[in-house]
Amino acid sequence: MKTIKCSNFGLSCPFVAEDETEEGVIAKISEHGNTVHRAEVEARGATEEEITAAARGFIEEK
Ligand SMILES: [Zn+2]
Repeated sequence: MKTIKCSNFGLSCPFVAEDETEEGVIAKISEHGNTVHRAEVEARGATEEEITAAARGFIEEK
C-alpha cells in the first residue's frame, strides 16, 4: 500500500491518502488538497505540476 501524509505539505492536517498504486495515491492527495486546502494551495501559488512532483516525493510504502 502506498501512502502520502497531508502533513508532508506543511499543513497541520491528519489526512493520509492510501492507494495500491502511485498514480492512485497522487490522485487522492490532489483531490483532498483541491477540496480541503484550496485556500492554502492558492495562497502558495503552486501549480498542479509542482504539487504532483512534490506528492511523488512524499510517497511512503506501507
Ligand atoms: Zn489535508
